[in-house]
Amino acid sequence: MRLNGKVVIVTGAGQGIGAATALKFAREGATVALCDLREDVVDRSIEACREVGAQAVGFALDVADRQAVDGMVAGVIERFERIDILVNNAGITRDARFEKMTGEQFDSVIEVNLKGVFNVAQAVVPAMIAQGHGVILNGSSVVGIYGNFGQTNYAAAKFGVIGLTKTWCRELGPKGIRVNAVAPGFIQTPMLSTVPDAVLARMSEQVPLRRLGRPEEVANIYAFLASDEASYINGAVIEASGGLTV
Ligand code: NAP
Repeated sequence: MRLNGKVVIVTGAGQGIGAATALKFAREGATVALCDLREDVVDRSIEACREVGAQAVGFALDVADRQAVDGMVAGVIERFERIDILVNNAGITRDARFEKMTGEQFDSVIEVNLKGVFNVAQAVVPAMIAQGHGVILNGSSVVGIYGNFGQTNYAAAKFGVIGLTKTWCRELGPKGIRVNAVAPGFIQTPMLSTVPDAVLARMSEQVPLRRLGRPEEVANIYAFLASDEASYINGAVIEASGGLTV
């Protein structure tokens, strides 16, 4: 088990990539602190992690709420005495063509997908610095590298996440903290549930592997990057898109 005894916080862990990542970390021996907006989905994920033998605790909170985030981090430290890994995965979409995008749509995506990443990372970093080690993994997207039609807000946030990642790599590397980003392509999760089947089929056809990705395929990358096997990977953006962007 590659993450035996490690303490990890996974945000947006109630479903999709976050739930798969929490479960993967649990299977790899980690103690998992899960957070998501709704208590019922948090509870479901806790149950799944406990079923594979992991210690798991949960927090229903909004990553954009700094006070709540600070409370979660304090709770994890109080209970487990350290935080080894943060997976900053929570994210939302509020798509619209640029001319039609409202200020509210723009702000809400920046608030969760960019400020939320800042909030949770800044809250965990003092503990990681005190320990002299830590790993921060940030969820970006291929949209954060190439942009995408209808996603001005999402692209701005996901490009921003890569900027945070590279900056923190420089600032925190000397303190023993590695910081990397993952940039998935189209992954079959509830986030895509509003996309019509015909559009999903067209999206699959654009991928050289001719299919959408599975949440577990992104979780595997987070687990590798969190492990000592990735001990010299820092400031990287790992794309997992089935070759979509080639
Ligand atoms: P998902 O299925 O929608 O799951 C995201 C989870 O995060 C949901 O449970 C959601 O709760 C929760 N969440 C949303 N806002 C939150 C907040 N403010 N605080 C705490 N939790 C919050 O999404 P996913 O597809 O697994 O995506 C996970 C991450 O990967 C996101 O950052 C996304 O941008 C990124 N990503 C996804 C894809 C893809 O194709 N699926 C591709 C590239 C990148 P609610 O359901 O209640 O909103």
